[in-house]
Amino acid sequence: MTPQPTAAGSANRHPISDEFLLDYAAGTAPEPVAVLVATHVALDPASRAALGQLEAAGGALLETVAPARVNDDALDRALARLDVQEAGDRRSAPARVASAELPAPLRPYVPQGVHALRWRGVGGFAEAVLPCATQTPYRLSLVRVAAGRAFPHHGHTGMEMLLVLKGGFSDEHGHYLRGDVCLSDEAVEHRPVADPDGECLCLAVTRGPVRFKGLLGVLLGPFMRRQ
Ligand code: ZN
Repeated sequence: MTPQPTAAGSANRHPISDEFLLDYAAGTAPEPVAVLVATHVALDPASRAALGQLEAAGGALLETVAPARVNDDALDRALARLDVQEAGDRRSAPARVASAELPAPLRPYVPQGVHALRWRGVGGFAEAVLPCATQTPYRLSLVRVAAGRAFPHHGHTGMEMLLVLKGGFSDEHGHYLRGDVCLSDEAVEHRPVADPDGECLCLAVTRGPVRFKGLLGVLLGPFMRRQ
């Protein structure tokens, strides 16, 4: 996959693509995808600006539609979305122990902090599934890889999004740092390697199981198939 240009035009960043921002702005993104988009937007000023433009355009569009033709459901969803965002901001207050390293949209999903999660994995790689309120075909999880170690070499049976929260990693397609999104699909096989200067922590959204390659994949498969 080729790196996607950012709204600001810089070459070495990996923002989320506009289609995901559009779904998020419209309130149609499934919960795990919405969490990842919101977390990315919290970390990436260019995507935050792009989302603001989309939301402004969406508001203008709503205003130009005659009231009788506005779909009540769509309006309710848009308003509910605002409620959720505001509620998310309130929940980011330190009423519960949350990891200060996590962006606000993610904190409700990790209320006790990253180290209190149930981590599973082998060989310097581990994953913790994050429970969602809604049933979707997507899996939301945190993955972490020790400094200089590799994610298992794998292919995909559906979409995979990796958002870097801490550290960085490289794969065959680029170098990803905090706030960057690595988007893969069925056509992609890769072996991300964490940067040597520290642990890499990512938020992951996957649809369909990943296909692990090699011995580590054989060892890891039974862990990762369990929810
Ligand atoms: Zn992958």
